Amino acid sequence: MSPPKKTPPSKKKAATPTVTVAPKRKLLRVTTRALFTRAGSTAVHWAPGNGEGNMIRGATIKVGAVSGTTNRFSVAELDLASLPDGPATMTFEPPPGMVGTTRASPSMLATTTSPPDRLFRALSLSVTIKSGALDPSASTAFGQAVDNAQVTLLTQDKLEIDWKPDWIKCPRNYARPAPPNAPTPPSPKLIILHSTDADNIGSTLHRFTAPGGKGYAGANYIVDVDGFVVKMVRDEEAVGHAGQSFFRGTRNVSDISIGIETVHRGSGAFPKAQMDALLALIRALEAAHGLGRHTVFAHYDVQVERSENPPLNLTMTGRHACPGGSFDYAPIMTGGVGTGRISRRPSPSDYGGLFSTFPTIALARNDKDGSKIYGGKVRSAIVIPVIREIQSDLKSIGYSINERDGTTETGEYDDPTIHAIQAFQRHFMNARDSPTGFVDAQTAAAIKEVLGDLATP
Ligand SMILES: [Zn+2]
Repeated sequence: MSPPKKTPPSKKKAATPTVTVAPKRKLLRVTTRALFTRAGSTAVHWAPGNGEGNMIRGATIKVGAVSGTTNRFSVAELDLASLPDGPATMTFEPPPGMVGTTRASPSMLATTTSPPDRLFRALSLSVTIKSGALDPSASTAFGQAVDNAQVTLLTQDKLEIDWKPDWIKCPRNYARPAPPNAPTPPSPKLIILHSTDADNIGSTLHRFTAPGGKGYAGANYIVDVDGFVVKMVRDEEAVGHAGQSFFRGTRNVSDISIGIETVHRGSGAFPKAQMDALLALIRALEAAHGLGRHTVFAHYDVQVERSENPPLNLTMTGRHACPGGSFDYAPIMTGGVGTGRISRRPSPSDYGGLFSTFPTIALARNDKDGSKIYGGKVRSAIVIPVIREIQSDLKSIGYSINERDGTTETGEYDDPTIHAIQAFQRHFMNARDSPTGFVDAQTAAAIKEVLGDLATP
């Protein structure tokens, strides 16, 4: 390895083209890892146990007749000495059994019962060879429109590629519960949106690929900040993402839904590229599973209190309202992707005329249909059980409205009702982090507008 004479100054002179003195036969060291690097974010070592889930072992890298295979440290060494100077194509073939051909999609691995740990799309990179090494000054570009890789380092003898898998297996998948003798496995009925509360995708990948049960949740999909989508559990199977939950009469919403995580640090707008990718994914899922548009809800819409003992305490918690106050539902409400609000003038008969008779009233905790207490005062003129009507409407949207079975109207303005109204205000009224939980004329009108939209396919 060591040259005949060690003269450090000559190393520096090697940069000038006239110097052709050996030792030149350095191997090209190619490193491919799934780091998910982005401008302004540091790579995170993610994976079960040893933190090396981002390693890519067994990938084949070829330039002309030269090839090499990555070792367990993701490194392949190539001897370029035999290659002529000039442009060349370097190809990257995924490890055997991990060859993917598409981006993450509903149909990905749909018919596979034992999916691989990862799926990568092959890459081809345009490089320039010069004197048996890479020419770092030449332009380097992938040979196709690439969203799954980037060059993170290029020198004469080092090339580093960040190569993102479209599929990373989460080990906590389970079969969607089906009635006995059901002819086919049940298909998903809801799409539930989450956010990670973390700067980059690494910590979430780490959690979702770690072994272990409760406390290590998962998701069917993760949408990264730049819009790159990683699939982790097949649509045909469920994974715990919604926790203690209730919606449209179903407990444990994870069983019947597809969970989508969005990488978001908890404050600031979601980037456009990420929202565009999320909307495209939702559309694809709705089409693939015949869901229709009234199926897209937030984690906070379905979340209920952790139950210590039966009967279930189906109130929503005051915990982090995932996906958080920064999430903007407007594109989902208006784009034909989710439930929206129809344009409608409030009717004087809505809720027994309470809000047209008392335009500034807001329902308060402990109001009751039974004693006609609305807004803290007895309103004898109101003959309709207003709170029952509100609860019935909330139930039609899907919310849990009581602590026992989630669906029976109580006629009392209690915690479950307040929590359902808070979720409604976050989702449909852009209330962000400060929903009141109390129904005023505006909220009453919005509920009827949402019901109107729900009546339209
Ligand atoms: Zn969540």
